[in-house]
Amino acid sequence: MADQPTQERRCALVTGGSRGIGRAISIALARAGFDIAIVYAGNDEAANETAEAVRAQGATARTYRCDVSSAEEATAIVNQVLADFGSVWALVNNAGITRDGLVARMKEDDFDRVIDVNLKGTYNMVRALTRTFMRQRGGRIINMSSIVGVHGNAGQVNYAASKAGIIGLTKSIAQELASRNVTANVVAPGFVETDMTAALSDEVRASYAREIPLGRMATADEIASAVAFLASDDAAYITGIVLGVDGGMGM
Ligand code: NAP
Repeated sequence: MADQPTQERRCALVTGGSRGIGRAISIALARAGFDIAIVYAGNDEAANETAEAVRAQGATARTYRCDVSSAEEATAIVNQVLADFGSVWALVNNAGITRDGLVARMKEDDFDRVIDVNLKGTYNMVRALTRTFMRQRGGRIINMSSIVGVHGNAGQVNYAASKAGIIGLTKSIAQELASRNVTANVVAPGFVETDMTAALSDEVRASYAREIPLGRMATADEIASAVAFLASDDAAYITGIVLGVDGGMGM
């Protein structure tokens, strides 16, 4: 059973909110005073665990199963969230997948799926909420890119293209929505300890760590802090930026 939303509290919709960075974002935003709509692909158990952790912060949490790559599903879920919470103040497009492989061997399906979830999913959610943001003359859009979207990465042409696309998309909507007092920004993590990176061998992890000036991977909480800042009133004058949270890799 979800808690009853309260009128005076703001809602944040977090895609990929069930696990990893998205879970940390959901909890950080709840701590900052937001109620949370957790959108996830299929891991009911993880989504429910995150919802409990959000409620432990005294916030309302509801979970929504949805494939963000489907425009139809994204629109339906946004409408359901608006019906449940009344409004959305912050949209965090964090859902993302990898299907790595060198370009010569990458299957077309693997290219398309990563673009569809990471980039088109972001577009689908933004499009479904833009009218709401324009009407309320305020709001925050925070899109999750990656250092890989800025620098590229061998073996990740699909992922890098999707994450670079998110930067262009975000700067464009930042320009379109600025006159309505809606900000749109990108967070670009380096390497973060989550399920996505858990499969890496110790050797690969050690080689990554050597490339990171701060000498270690990030925790999900360190990425969530940056998102919580961009969602806050303190970040009202920041729009169209790419905030690297990468231990110095972007230098
Ligand atoms: P993760 O642990 O693999 O979690 C992925 C999340 O996305 C899960 O909540 C998953 O839901 C959801 N998701 C996947 N496909 C979806 C779909 N089609 N529709 C809706 N939700 C979907 O990933 P993470 O490491 O936390 O990464 C989160 C974001 O940060 C991604 O955009 C990723 O590219 C980016 N990032 C990660 C790193 C890193 O080192 N980990 C670095 C830079 C950027 P289920 O739980 O239901 O599967």
